[in-house]
Amino acid sequence: MSDTFDVIVIGGGPAGYPAAIRAGQNKLTVACIDEWRNRDGNYAFGGTCLNAGCIPSKALLESSELYHRAREEFAVHGIKLTGVSLDVAQMQRRKAGIVKASTQGITALFKAAGVTGLHGHGKLLSGRRVAYTGADGSQRELTAKHVVLASGSVPTELKSAPFKDPYIIDSWGALELQAAPRRLGVIGAGVIGLELGSVWRRLGSEVTVLEALPELLPMADQQVAKEAARQFKKQGIDIRLGTQVRAAKILGDAVEVSYEDATGAHTLTVDRLIVAAGRRPYTGELLGEGTGVEIDARGFIKVDEHCRTGVEGVWAVGDCVRGPMLAHKGKEEGVMVADMIAGRYGEVNYKVIPAVIYTAPEIAWVGQTEQQVKASGRAYKLGVFPFPANGRARAMEQALGFAKIVAAQDDDEILGVHIIGPMAGELIAEAVLAMEYAASSEDLQRTIHAHPTLAEALHEAALAADKRAIDALNR
Ligand code: FAD
Ligand code: NAD
Repeated sequence: MSDTFDVIVIGGGPAGYPAAIRAGQNKLTVACIDEWRNRDGNYAFGGTCLNAGCIPSKALLESSELYHRAREEFAVHGIKLTGVSLDVAQMQRRKAGIVKASTQGITALFKAAGVTGLHGHGKLLSGRRVAYTGADGSQRELTAKHVVLASGSVPTELKSAPFKDPYIIDSWGALELQAAPRRLGVIGAGVIGLELGSVWRRLGSEVTVLEALPELLPMADQQVAKEAARQFKKQGIDIRLGTQVRAAKILGDAVEVSYEDATGAHTLTVDRLIVAAGRRPYTGELLGEGTGVEIDARGFIKVDEHCRTGVEGVWAVGDCVRGPMLAHKGKEEGVMVADMIAGRYGEVNYKVIPAVIYTAPEIAWVGQTEQQVKASGRAYKLGVFPFPANGRARAMEQALGFAKIVAAQDDDEILGVHIIGPMAGELIAEAVLAMEYAASSEDLQRTIHAHPTLAEALHEAALAADKRAIDALNR
């Protein structure tokens, strides 16, 4: 193996590995160094997303949803099942198989794109040199014209509830549980808390979520957040807002959580406690002396809008830099950087990044919430279409939630789209494309949507923005 590359990427998660692949496609010589090791001790590319995040969580979400539907919904369809039972070990084996296939896929993609995949640790030194410590402990110094830092993020640990496996666990631990705890506590009603809380709720746990903020999902459109709160309550997820966790103690086989809210001090006793209170950028042992790369007060590597650090030829992408901690945001940054290094055009449209919460029902949005548009002072119109009025949703027994479009009053530009309902995470793609092309609500109104599809809800929401919906009352 050569010690000199056009590009070295440190970190092989969803920000780093696409950067490496695109650099290879651009005919640059490239190495990607990644130190991720799974619980079996094996190295694997893919970072948090493939090994302990997006992919395993969605595998369990799917399984738990099927279990729930088999028990609660099939009878309505006229499908009678008796003796439905849960085999969490098999569920976990299926999940592990999906993770393995996904991470091995990266190794194959690296080969095809001519990327040198290196397992082990990478540390940037001055002068775009990289100290590489191999899986066997061997050390080498590599050099590159460009270095892309993609070291990702790790869960935030709370002083009041430090991790203590197997009782007080992070999201990875929550994905590895081998049985549904009878009583499950979750700290944080953010994306992870809601997704994993709902997985284990569907698999039988009593779930209590303690959230510090006084409102649920403040980053979402508040009409959506209100509907989400209603649905989670109906599912039996007990979300307690405005709580301050003071301590979490392991007592025998249980965890006792002390917290305060506006009504006073309380204790909650659970069998397992998931701490999902956010993630922080990870830059441990990433930067040697004198690299000149700057870190901001919150621990993020400082970059400009094109992911350049202040150091010539050193770039940073993904969760270790500002912006939402999302796999698809990191991927686009990685691709942008690899294209710019090759002298091609590269850009990330930070205004049009979709967000999806994979609960049931799913929640998805892109662009500004109604509240943000209102605060901006721009006059706007709203189109809301309820899924109970959508034929496909009714046929799927998923007739709940709505699609909502916020469009400008003056030029009709779509400013934001918010969906809570079946397959919201898939449906939002149309809105993303529309906004990427600066579409108006009239553009969506004049676009033919196949019938009967869930996507018709978006079409009708666009029509509703001008009080011209066909399949629902225009209010
Ligand atoms: P990471 O995925 O964290 O990858 C960084 C990699 O760099 C790791 O493999 C790490 O070991 C390696 N590394 C770090 N330092 C070094 C070093 N010095 N040398 C060598 N290697 C190093 N996002 C979504 O968009 N959709 C989802 O559905 C979703 N679900 C999630 C579910 C969970 C439970 C969690 C925890 C996260 C989820 N996320 C989701 C967030 C998503 O996983 C992250 O945004 C994404 O993984 C960030 O990608 P990254 O490449 O920046 O970092
Ligand atoms: P988050 O920021 O979404 O939510 C953390 C929640 O914990 C917040 O509501 C916060 O107010 C609360 N909190 C913080 N400290 C607390 C305390 N001491 N007591 C009670 N509540 C407290 O973070 P997360 O859910 O941990 O997820 C981390 C990142 O991973 C997010 O940025 C998210 O974008 C990403 N992620 C994305 C997806 C997805 O795209 N579907 C899924 C999972 C994770």
